[in-house]
Amino acid sequence: MERRKEIELSENAEQILKARYLKKNGDGELIETPEEMFYRVARNIAEANQKYDEPVEPAAQKFYDVMTALEFLPNSPTLMNADNDLQQLSACFVLPVEDSMEDIFEAIKNAALIHKSGGGTGFSFSRLRPRDDRVRSTGGVASGPVSFMHVFDAATDTVKQGGKRRGANMGVLRVDHPDIREFISCKEDEDELNNFNISVALTENFMKAVESGGTYELINPRTEEAVASENAREIFEMVVERAHGNGEPGIIFLDRINEDNPTPALGDIESTNPCGEQPLLPYEACNLGSINLSRMVKGEPGQAGIDYDKLEETTRTAVRFLDNVIDMNEFPLAEIEEMVRGNRKIGLGVMGYSDMLLKLGLPYDSKPAVNTAREIMEFIRETARSESHRLAEKRGPFPNYQDSIYDKPYRNATTTTIAPTGSISILADTSSGIEPIFALCYERNVLDDTLIEVHPVFKEMAEKRGILSDELIDSLTGRNSIQDMEKIPRDIRDIFVTAHDISPEWHVRTQAAFQENVDNAVSKTVNFRNDATIDDVREVYRLAYELGCKGVTIYRDGSRSEQVLTTDDSQ
Ligand code: UDP
Repeated sequence: MERRKEIELSENAEQILKARYLKKNGDGELIETPEEMFYRVARNIAEANQKYDEPVEPAAQKFYDVMTALEFLPNSPTLMNADNDLQQLSACFVLPVEDSMEDIFEAIKNAALIHKSGGGTGFSFSRLRPRDDRVRSTGGVASGPVSFMHVFDAATDTVKQGGKRRGANMGVLRVDHPDIREFISCKEDEDELNNFNISVALTENFMKAVESGGTYELINPRTEEAVASENAREIFEMVVERAHGNGEPGIIFLDRINEDNPTPALGDIESTNPCGEQPLLPYEACNLGSINLSRMVKGEPGQAGIDYDKLEETTRTAVRFLDNVIDMNEFPLAEIEEMVRGNRKIGLGVMGYSDMLLKLGLPYDSKPAVNTAREIMEFIRETARSESHRLAEKRGPFPNYQDSIYDKPYRNATTTTIAPTGSISILADTSSGIEPIFALCYERNVLDDTLIEVHPVFKEMAEKRGILSDELIDSLTGRNSIQDMEKIPRDIRDIFVTAHDISPEWHVRTQAAFQENVDNAVSKTVNFRNDATIDDVREVYRLAYELGCKGVTIYRDGSRSEQVLTTDDSQ
């Protein structure tokens, strides 16, 4: 295999790799370089080819080349665990929580095993009987979903001490569960449930009642009987107010998610993974990977175009990589192994979207940008499906294919997901997922020095226009917007919009444009300014529903003293 001598790693990437990805010996000393890490991963994942009598060497070379060029990276567990003792390669899991003490604690144990291996877990608590319901075996009363979530949370806290990555959980409750009010406000105190993101699962029935101003029924899952009714608008308002308060809960549109369930015969989807991008069946897992869009362009910054040939080649390689991961993966539970090998879901997505737009010279908050998002994702999905179809012809369709919605054989029940890429975008030195940039100039502490880093595309453009100077860099430092800096030409300011400048509506429009061509879901935080009102949040929920999003997560600037469970896993 031809090895690359130099990988363009940023100082930040080097540090993260050393702290958490590179192999260490028993004394905690590094025994691997970044280049050796990519070699280890490429060889290990290519080995799956043997199973199908396909040559290993050329596949290993391609996998190595795309990773070391920082054009494609798999999710962190694959980089950390391939060819290591664990060999647990997936980031996303959903576990069932059944309504019995045995099953609840079984789920807690299974979650601990998954967290230890670097995966995140999602749970629906909707099957648990409500607080104060009867418990026949003891003659006592039930404590309800929220109370059990605290037990999951405490277990996660304890397990995270030992892992490379903190355990993250998603807790979902259906809007028609009798404990819904308690659930909506369970994270009102920001010291509570810190290892959980929470989402209310909204049904179509509920959304209709919100529209008409009507009521809907609350159902006890134990008896399946209606026990009360609620005013839909009142509950919706409660969610909006809490989200405005500190970003929690998020919402998911459950029926819409199930409309896209590729294997309805195997059951309903009840939950997503922790950051919301991956709806899964109970006991299902998914491995993700992301293409670095900022490296899929050609031409001068500011006027570049998308390199579709390169994007096609990278997409095909990525799909083969992610399909191989399933064969090389070792799962923490037999039930998960059976489900994953039956559906073979993979989640290919993108990172560096915002950096790509800067190179193309398109403002994030513009129609041309949103149209580009739609086109690129359509291209990636079509190419990914075409490659999955080719793989099916060679390796066979996913075993549950007969039970699926597809009339054409695919190797994978789903192929596309947009992940947050909290860590791997740092490794690739690009903007995360499909989020906008936050600033043009960052201060970075490296050893004893504070370095000022200017966004490379801005630097190049400013240099070309003859405005780059120490004084300019000084005046950029500490700013989250350059819109009022008159010494920077208007056309440059128009392109370099930051999260601070972009209205929530454009966040949602961007999310929706990607969602149109994504099988699974899209990780996105809709950012609001601190002075945003409850009406602004309600309007964004409405727009997300109207535009076909599968869920919404919002964050109002400064509404939490510290953002818990961010995706940059900075711990
Ligand atoms: N995740 C987790 N713990 C973390 C970060 C992520 O369990 O500290 C899981 C979670 O399911 C999340 C998924 O990994 O939705 C993907 O996150 P991201 O894309 O940020 O991961 P990366 O591959 O960049 O580390």
